[in-house]
Amino acid sequence: MNGPMTPSDNNKPSPYQLESAQLEWRDDIVPTSSNYDDIYFSKQHGLDETHYVFLHHNQLAERWQQLDKNNPGIFTIAETGFGTGLNFLATWQLWQLHAPKNWQLYFISVEKHPLKKADLQKALSAWPQLSNLSQTLISQYPPLIPGHHVIHFESVKLHLLLTDASEGFEQCLSTHHPAFSPHYGAKVDAWFLDGFAPAKNPSMWSERLFELIRDLSKKNTTVATFTAAGIVKRGLQQAGFTTKKVKGFGHKREMLTAVYEHAAQEPVSNKRHKAPWALYPPPKTVRQGKAKHVAVIGGGIAGCTTAYALANSGIQVTLIERHRKLAQEASGNAQGMLYTKLSTQAGTLSQFGLSCYFFATRYYQALQQQQILTNNEASFCGLLQLCLNKKQQNWLADLSQIFQGQDDWLQFLNTEQSQQVSGISTSYPGYFLSQSGWVSPSALCDKLSLHHNIDIITEQQAIELQYVEPPQTEAQESHRWAIVNSKQQSILHCDAIVIANSHDATQFQQTNHLPLKVIRGQITELTQTCFNELPQTVICHEGYITPAIDGQVRFGATFDLGDREKNIRPGDHLRNITSLQQALPTTLIQASENIQGRANLRCTTPDYMPIVGQVGMRREMIADFLPLNKDANRVINKPGSYYPGLYINVAHGAKGLTSAPLCAELLTALINQHPSPMPRDLVDALNPARFIIRDIIRGKIVSAC
Ligand code: SAM
Repeated sequence: MNGPMTPSDNNKPSPYQLESAQLEWRDDIVPTSSNYDDIYFSKQHGLDETHYVFLHHNQLAERWQQLDKNNPGIFTIAETGFGTGLNFLATWQLWQLHAPKNWQLYFISVEKHPLKKADLQKALSAWPQLSNLSQTLISQYPPLIPGHHVIHFESVKLHLLLTDASEGFEQCLSTHHPAFSPHYGAKVDAWFLDGFAPAKNPSMWSERLFELIRDLSKKNTTVATFTAAGIVKRGLQQAGFTTKKVKGFGHKREMLTAVYEHAAQEPVSNKRHKAPWALYPPPKTVRQGKAKHVAVIGGGIAGCTTAYALANSGIQVTLIERHRKLAQEASGNAQGMLYTKLSTQAGTLSQFGLSCYFFATRYYQALQQQQILTNNEASFCGLLQLCLNKKQQNWLADLSQIFQGQDDWLQFLNTEQSQQVSGISTSYPGYFLSQSGWVSPSALCDKLSLHHNIDIITEQQAIELQYVEPPQTEAQESHRWAIVNSKQQSILHCDAIVIANSHDATQFQQTNHLPLKVIRGQITELTQTCFNELPQTVICHEGYITPAIDGQVRFGATFDLGDREKNIRPGDHLRNITSLQQALPTTLIQASENIQGRANLRCTTPDYMPIVGQVGMRREMIADFLPLNKDANRVINKPGSYYPGLYINVAHGAKGLTSAPLCAELLTALINQHPSPMPRDLVDALNPARFIIRDIIRGKIVSAC
């Protein structure tokens, strides 16, 4: 950076920092926690102990051998204390041996003090028999940023919640409303209660933790733990588990197992709710049979990533696109960047942005490793955000304090470093997202939609969505939605629909109330001979420029709120060129005669969060929640009213490449009732009905009709 950084307030603790594990190494190989004065595993028998305590006493091998390969599903394990990941790796290995290939394992693990990557590598080097799996884990290990990190290893999905155990599991419940049971949503099949011994770590083994373990359990959920301490035994018993002391591993006298013999828990009142209303689909509307055939309306990034995630979960998908080809609108650009705007504040937007960004970089890299995307269709060349003026540079200085120590994904660069990294003479400092880059949205849509569970219908415009009440006598899986075109012909019948057609979502009666905003954006394209220097990375200033591909350099983009026209405007090319020349004056030699470009419409919302989830019924929602306009804190014991099987995924703005993959996972989890890849607060923040609630509270809606 030019001159010293002057953070405006460096006394505040950073909301992005975690206290990582403080380790000492016994015999140079056994990691020992200085925070808790306890070891992670024993040198000779650590792996055997994992097998004995957690795998054997949850009867995992036997249970997995009995899973029905003709009826694939998921098995969910939750763990307190991810530590070195030894339990996870041993479980993954056992899963490979015993589970049917078409089943999925969800492993949800909380960790308050995660190991640094180098420590993880050193700790796992003790187990050469797991080396293939440990190398894969190490390569995907997330940055140490608080929150939910979702990592996919083919049939194994790791949800690593970097936070305190109770906080993390609290966020796995589907509602925090005091009037509702958390019986809707994902459930755990087996618990690994690890975590250091209660005597050394009493705060983790709290009453609330045991309540949460119960609330996330179902009939016959099992528990195994290395400890037989009274506080654990009593905690489990008070939460309704039947416990048993059994012989401990090796020289240890005893350990505990437990089973939950009741049906899922009935309403539990807790005071830990944020909102006095419950915005979540009640079980009644989502439990009417499992969706087997889902239609996705819209063949852009949101639609194609959703279709792909659903198809990967075993659902048959039909993608409906009004154009002749997919990705013809805002998703049709040849290069889109993987961007997240860092923030000094850790609010919902930045938590969402970072979670999506980390997931998206892993997602696209995996697609390239699987050769679904070629090197011409995606490049992880990094992204440099330049800070052009004093205000931005002060902000950069603040960021560099707040994100200290995150060098594995984020570097703060002075002017010379910016030049070196980007290959362009610049006089500005910035931050560099080293795992970022660009992806071709149009290639992405084409490639994802080749999945064998996806059918595509093109040149058909869905105009109306008709709910067909299934006759009482019919099987629950009967098709209940009809999608109708402008000629009133039925295009398709299906179990569920995902609306993913951007701002055109307002054409459907069920979603016409959504406050979608349109932003016109034009990009400019020139041949590389017009440039003096070519960027090696994506560079963002007020606009952005991407590295040349096939001799073409693309930059832009304009940003015009409310402008709905898609024509190419010479004036907008000029704006893009001027913006580029101001930020990087030496780059462009001259704009040739042959200027190309694309203009399209992005879709956003008043709070800049996408809209993702089940669609609420506006009239019924208003009737349910109208009392909030007199008293915003009034507790309303209603979950809201939702259309059965109708979902939406729109309004990703200019960052759809980054936000769509994780949102697609969220929808897939909601539709299948699988564990959510996002904490509950974020799921609520994406809920399509949030605008109705806000409008009631702000007095914009004052009556029920
Ligand atoms: N299961 C781990 C493995 O396979 O390597 C070993 C776990 S180690 C014995 C205990 C872990 O619990 C530590 O990583 C520690 O940081 C974590 N831990 C302790 N208190 C916690 C809390 N309140 N919330 C979440 N994790 C916690």
